[in-house]
Parts: sequence; structure tokens; C-alpha cells
Amino acid sequence: MPLIPKGIVKKISQRYIAGDSIADAIRVAKQLESVNVVATIDVLGEFKTLKEQVEREKKETIRLLHAIKEHQLKSYLSIKLTSIGMDIDEDYCFENLLEIVTIASEEGIFVRLDMENSPYTSKTLDMYRKIREKGFSNIGVVIQAYLKRSEADIQSLLEYKPSIRLCKGIYVESADIAFKDPDHIRTNYKKLYHLLIENGAYSCLATHDVALIDYCLQDIEKQQFSKEQFEFQMLLGVKEEERTKIVQKGHTMRVYIPFGEDWYGYSTRRLKENPQIALYVTKALFRLG
Ligand SMILES: Cc1cc2nc3c(=O)[nH]c(=O)nc-3n(C[C@H](O)[C@H](O)[C@H](O)COP(=O)(O)OP(=O)(O)OC[C@H]3O[C@@H](n4cnc5c(N)ncnc54)[C@H](O)[C@@H]3O)c2cc1C
Repeated sequence: MPLIPKGIVKKISQRYIAGDSIADAIRVAKQLESVNVVATIDVLGEFKTLKEQVEREKKETIRLLHAIKEHQLKSYLSIKLTSIGMDIDEDYCFENLLEIVTIASEEGIFVRLDMENSPYTSKTLDMYRKIREKGFSNIGVVIQAYLKRSEADIQSLLEYKPSIRLCKGIYVESADIAFKDPDHIRTNYKKLYHLLIENGAYSCLATHDVALIDYCLQDIEKQQFSKEQFEFQMLLGVKEEERTKIVQKGHTMRVYIPFGEDWYGYSTRRLKENPQIALYVTKALFRLG
């Protein structure tokens, strides 16, 4: 990664990141809404260890909530708890989250807690439960199909009738706690999909894996699940043709829009963490060249 010039990383990232500012995120969300795609918007930033960084991040997040409301977008917010103080102090992080979820609730906006690497799994689910127990329902979590614990985690969340984004998982985790084989991860994804949708959880199917998408689509049709029970989600700039096909079938499609000045750190960390994505970058590099 250090060998790839910053300018090239920025060029490649442009496909995946809306830009530096709230205005960029709103512009991209509007473009998507014009083709019947909704969004979840993320202020880039994670693993913040200084309170002034966290306060900046929180302020930008709150400005984003107001902008979503002002522009009457159907989009909502995605947020990483390490961007709002999880690595500083858990009570401080909870206070920040509570403030954000309260404002979002007043604005009629949903908040999705992204799932980070395994040291944060239990902490993130605990924060979710604490917010739900305060009476807020405009919050959801993410479950990663590569984690062996995920089935038990879903079981423990079902009582909340939760909204859950189901993804494979992006971080590098040890074989002790995570499935490593792509087929095992896919098999577990299918199992968790059934567990969610058949038990009344709102199921957000976040994947670009066409085999998995087709599997879910066939099952949804067979079991005649209503459109109020699920949606599909994809990342900005990925598999746009597949995205269009799903929209044309009349299903809800939500695209994850990251934006912010932290684009370089975010992009390089993602690339380092997942060699598969590094492969996409290499391919993109050659296409650029
Ligand atoms: C909306 C959304 C939210 C997410 N939130 C989280 C989260 O909170 N925590 C977490 O750990 N992970 C999250 N992820 C990432 C996820 O866990 C996977 O790492 C990522 O989606 C790739 O897995 P896949 O299911 O698409 O399958 P893969 O088998 O990895 O990909 C299937 C195909 O899609 C294409 N593709 C996938 N990703 C890319 C890419 N970046 N660039 C270009 N082509 C690509 C490739 O053609 C690939 O062959 C999220 C993903 C999405 C879509």
C-alpha cells in the first residue's frame, strides 16, 4: 500500500467515496434516490483516541442528520462506535451515541451501528441493547457471517425485533473465531439469513455475491416474504448492474455512502485489511493505466 501514490489511491477511492463534504454525500444520495435507490451515509472516521477528534466527528454527524432532514432524503446514518469515543471511554461513547440517536429520532432518521473488528463485537451489541432499552427503535446493528458467534448473537437479539444488516465481514479475524473458507462463510450467511427473516427481524442483505443474492431472492419469492421484511444493501461503486436488476424487481436497495476528509486512512486501512480488495485495486490500477 505505501507504494501506491496517494493520488492513485484517491482516484480509485473516488468510486467508493462520495467526496469530502456533507454536500457531496447529499448530492450522491439525491442521484441515487432519482433512480429509486436509498442510502445509508457514513461520516468517515474510526479508532479515534482524542476527545477533540470525537467532538468534531459528532458535530459533523449531527450536521449530516440535519442535512438529511432538510433535503427530505429517505437516507439514514451509519456510524462506527470507535469514531465517537469507544476507544476513549465506553460511558462517553454511550453519551455521544445517545445524543446522536435522540436527534436522529427527532428528525425521523434511522441509525445503523456498523460492526467493526472482533474486540468491538460485544461492546457494539451491548450499546445497541442499551439504546433499545431507553425506548429508541430507530437503531439497528450489523452481524458478520464470518464470525462463529453470530448465530448465538442473532438468537440473543431476536427479542428486540431488530433491524439487522447481514454482511460477510471485512476485517481479518483469526480462525479460532471466524470461518475462513469462502464456502463456509456463504453457508453461514444463508443459515443466518433464514434465522433473521423467519423470526421477524428486518433483514438487510448486504452483499455483492450474486450467488447469495440469487439464493435470497429465490427464497423470498418461495416463502412470499413481504417487502416490509427485508432490503438489499450494497457499497457505493460496486456491482451497479446487479444493483439495478434488484431495483427493477421492485425491492428496496440501500447503498452505503461514505464521505469525509478521512478518506485516505479509510481507504488504505480497508485495502490493507482485506487482500481481496487490494486485488480489486490492482485491477482498477491497470484499468486506469
Ligand atoms: C452495505 C454494506 C455495509 C457493510 N457494512 C459492514 C460492516 O459494518 N462491517 C463489516 O465488517 N463489513 C461490512 N461490509 C463489508 C462486507 O462485510 C464485505 O466485506 C463486502 O461486502 C464484500 O463481501 P461480499 O458479500 O460482497 O462478497 P465477496 O465475495 O467479497 O464479493 C462478491 C463480489 O462482489 C464484488 N465486490 C465486493 N466488494 C467489492 C469492492 N469493495 N470493490 C469492488 N468489487 C467488490 C466482487 O466482484 C466480488 O467478486 C458491508 C458491506 C455492505 C455491502
